[in-house]
Amino acid sequence: MANALAVLVVEDDAHIRRLVRGALARAGHAVVEAATAREALAALAIDKPAAVLLDLGLPDRDGIELIQPAKAAGAAVVVVSAREDTAEKVAALDLGADDYLVKPFDTEELLARLRAALRHRLEARAEAAVLVAGEVEVDLPRRRVRRAGAEVHLAPKEYGVLALLARHPDRVIGHAQLLREVWGPAHEANLDYLRIVVRNLRQKLEADPARPVLIVNEPGVGYRLRVVA
Ligand code: CA
Repeated sequence: MANALAVLVVEDDAHIRRLVRGALARAGHAVVEAATAREALAALAIDKPAAVLLDLGLPDRDGIELIQPAKAAGAAVVVVSAREDTAEKVAALDLGADDYLVKPFDTEELLARLRAALRHRLEARAEAAVLVAGEVEVDLPRRRVRRAGAEVHLAPKEYGVLALLARHPDRVIGHAQLLREVWGPAHEANLDYLRIVVRNLRQKLEADPARPVLIVNEPGVGYRLRVVA
């Protein structure tokens, strides 16, 4: 039923808005549009969208200011922006954006990212999720990990990182968020801790740890647990 969910498109460029609206409508979504931050805030309150596709360059405000209100309203947020700065992506993800797509984009890619963001939202509600990524199974309620059916023993930090990625399948999770949630706020900048743990996880879970296909690097941004081949 995820397809029936309403999506708010926040975009001041009428041409892009029309393009995105067409793609969303073909995918079966109800579409709400906003050309300014002010309209977007009104739509969040009135239409209660399940997801927001958010342009950052808006005429009245920086779109980044809409991430928190959208999350507070319970919507998944996919930033769609021409800004390809790593710092911008990190800032958007740290504020709670579910994903970030750089313009120009392919509408199929946009729909795939939106599906992942919405799936995460539904799974976050279910909480009883067992996530399958390739031959790896992460049983979140039981805190168990299996690879090809055999139990894998993980150190607490290794499990912490894997579980956080597994709770957001196919989404990039920023370095700072991983460090903050697994090690604590004081370790937000200790990227080495994270690198070591990711290396260990790849050794235990990947068929070829040198060419990871499960725990994927998003250079300068974070990691993504890939569940679709
Ligand atoms: Ca714009």
